[in-house]
Amino acid sequence: MNVLNECRFDLVAISANEALARAALSAFLIPADPTAEELADLRTVISEAVTNAIVHGYRGAETPGRVTVLMRMLPERTFYLRVTDKGCGIPDVSKAMEPLWTSAPQEERAGLGFAIMQSFTDTLHVRTAPGRGTVLTMRRRLGTTHAAP
Ligand code: ATP
Ligand code: MG
Repeated sequence: MNVLNECRFDLVAISANEALARAALSAFLIPADPTAEELADLRTVISEAVTNAIVHGYRGAETPGRVTVLMRMLPERTFYLRVTDKGCGIPDVSKAMEPLWTSAPQEERAGLGFAIMQSFTDTLHVRTAPGRGTVLTMRRRLGTTHAAP
């Protein structure tokens, strides 16, 4: 993988840190000069991924775990995002990815996080193992730059 830029960090898995992940993504993308829509989409994507790790991955954990974020800029304006948790894992990924399916209806969750991430990215891969955690990998190619020559 030809990596043009990269940023990696991990967050304590508390919801206060979702905003931090969104802010880091915005800052990382500045040099690529994304459109307002691309930026909004990708801020939503990282938010959904980090939220899932926090509320589902580490559900019931005695002490909050860590969520690791890796952002890369690849050739051809391709943004790469990986969000990893070492939580409970997803028992049935195809079911989890069905729009409107949620394991937490009592919390008024809509079951739309995966559907949103899929529609705002070009590719999304899930690797998960029970009791070991989940790795989400996504790519989104940005449009032609609007930056002045
Ligand atoms: P919403 O995102 O609309 O608030 P949701 O989080 O339940 O609702 P999705 O984000 O689509 O919906 O996730 C679907 C289901 O997949 C979750 O209800 C949960 O059971 C499971 N899941 C998602 N991410 C993880 C994760 N990192 N670890 C464990 N389970 C997960
Ligand atoms: Mg979700």
